Amino acid sequence: MNIASDDTDPGAEATLGEDVFKQLLAFVLSNELPADSRVNINRIAKQLDVSPTPIREALTRLEVAGLVTKTHLKGFRTTSVLSEKELADLFVLRLLLEPTSAALAAEHATPAELNALTAELNSYTDAPETGDAQTMARFSEHDGRLHLLIAQASGNLAIQRALEQTHFHLHAFRLSYEKAAGDPTLLEHVAVVEAITAREPEAAAAAMRAHLAASRERLLPRARALEAPSQPR
Ligand SMILES: [Zn+2]
Repeated sequence: MNIASDDTDPGAEATLGEDVFKQLLAFVLSNELPADSRVNINRIAKQLDVSPTPIREALTRLEVAGLVTKTHLKGFRTTSVLSEKELADLFVLRLLLEPTSAALAAEHATPAELNALTAELNSYTDAPETGDAQTMARFSEHDGRLHLLIAQASGNLAIQRALEQTHFHLHAFRLSYEKAAGDPTLLEHVAVVEAITAREPEAAAAAMRAHLAASRERLLPRARALEAPSQPR
């Protein structure tokens, strides 16, 4: 497993902390740190050639996102991947929040927010091939950021917070990623952003609903397969 990074900046503590966090996040998303297992802080520190302190800090951030838990005396463990039921429940919540979020964004987004949304959309024109951990983590962040930008543009802080708290994109990407699922995702995002930019609330809500329904169909079978007793992984 090649995890050494040459682009860390040893002079800047904040940059180091951010780099270590991104590495750890990538490990969890790519299953290099397998689900439901103990995290060996010293081993990771050695692998990344850093002290245990930034590793602990990164783990605390991952704990907020629900990707690791801290157990008394036993240190950190990665959490299980979402069950089919947990995933289905999250989609019910997103289908309540996000079509409205998109409709409100179509009504209320400022020109600056529309620009930010378009820039985020254009940052990916093609889904990455099934790639290394960092590639997957970046694509996951793109998906999460796009949905969050829409929620911000909605002007409804309650929707924004509720959505943020789910950390949905992180959990979704742990279920495995395929380019075959990434490409339609991007096309669906285009439809949502175009309707928002065109200031068409109903079309924006419909496009978001279609995106979430399609995403649910792509992800639920994977959660089901991972849950099956004889999971072929
Ligand atoms: Zn999306």
